[in-house]
Amino acid sequence: MKILVSGAGVAGLSLGRDLGMRGHHVTIIERADRLRGNGSPIDVRGDAIEVAEKMGILPAVRDARIRMTEQVHFVDEDGTAVGRLPADIGDSSDDIEIAREDLSRILADALPETVDLRLSESVNSIAEHDDGVDVGFASGNSESFDLVLGADGMHSAVRRLVFGPEQDWIRHLGLYVAIIDMPGEADAEAERINPMYSYPGHLAGIARFKDRAIGLLMFASDPIDYDYRDVEAQKKILFDQFAECRSWKVQTILDAVRADPDIYFDSVSQIHMPTWHRGRVALVGDAAHCASPLAGRGTSLAMTGAQFLAEELERSDGDHVTAFPRYEARQRPYVEFAQGTVEGGGALLVPPTQEAIVARNQLLQPVAVGQ
Ligand SMILES: Cc1cc2nc3c(=O)[nH]c(=O)nc-3n(C[C@H](O)[C@H](O)[C@H](O)COP(=O)(O)OP(=O)(O)OC[C@H]3O[C@@H](n4cnc5c(N)ncnc54)[C@H](O)[C@@H]3O)c2cc1C
Repeated sequence: MKILVSGAGVAGLSLGRDLGMRGHHVTIIERADRLRGNGSPIDVRGDAIEVAEKMGILPAVRDARIRMTEQVHFVDEDGTAVGRLPADIGDSSDDIEIAREDLSRILADALPETVDLRLSESVNSIAEHDDGVDVGFASGNSESFDLVLGADGMHSAVRRLVFGPEQDWIRHLGLYVAIIDMPGEADAEAERINPMYSYPGHLAGIARFKDRAIGLLMFASDPIDYDYRDVEAQKKILFDQFAECRSWKVQTILDAVRADPDIYFDSVSQIHMPTWHRGRVALVGDAAHCASPLAGRGTSLAMTGAQFLAEELERSDGDHVTAFPRYEARQRPYVEFAQGTVEGGGALLVPPTQEAIVARNQLLQPVAVGQ
């Protein structure tokens, strides 16, 4: 079949691999002018490890594994450690942590040569008819496909065009998050501790992995009205939120916000939809069921969903009417589990009051002198 995949994130690249290997003619379009690798490291966990094995990329994923989460320390305004996260959070044999750029590269390298990856392209219109789907692109081109798969993330254009506006499906969890490159901090601390500083409704942190450092800013807020693609608007929101804070390294992180042309900034939200397919169009990954960064499972869900969809299309001889509901039935339990794990996560990371911060720190493991 001739299949269009919108979005070259983990979901889109996994679809490209899984469908391309099964002999389909796959075109992946990506709005950005390159594969985006910024953001925080991600987890390949649970059944997604088996998915990676079936895709043949598990050895490369294991080779690129990083370890960082056991080193998270909460600090006070002077940088003195007041507590740390338990050592086993996010680090087990069932969980491989990997830099986003590495997973992206591994998946892109695994694409069969037949997959056509087009950068700086996006969908403008989708019109289904009896024999296929006519797609109009932002470049002005148009083309017909047998199937269209929306793997274009939480703000999916395919979802908007086929299923209706984002506000019908998005559930805001009351937080915003930004990840910023901080090249100047990469080896600033010999012990490579990842410090996090809280003040009411706000969290600022620095994490180090490989030869890189990233800044993390989170804050509690009702939904903010801004163009989610406008990086300058994103930066202004961060300055408005954090400019007053002179404690710890918050101003250093804001300097990095100024310098980084490609920050990651988004609301911490989930996507809930009663169904992920309509006619010849289906959604995969965050576009269908974003679980939010608090779940730490978006990448694994993207990988399992892509594989289930490719397998079900094969099992039903390309009959999407049979395959799409089967894909959804297999993927739903994973999504419901992941979306259900976020409760309390926001309040732990971003306590709303000073009392709640003190209470949170008391629950954490103490830091031994000298650590
Ligand atoms: C740059 C970036 C940084 C991220 N950083 C973090 C992070 O730090 N922490 C976290 O928890 N999650 C982060 N995420 C989200 C995380 O990657 C996903 O939850 C998870 O990997 C599921 O992936 P996905 O492929 O479904 O969606 P995504 O990773 O969002 O990928 C969607 C892809 O589609 C592209 N796209 C969007 N709109 C269009 C369009 N109209 N046409 C064509 N292409 C389009 C995007 O550029 C992107 O490459 C980030 C996502 C991106 C894109």
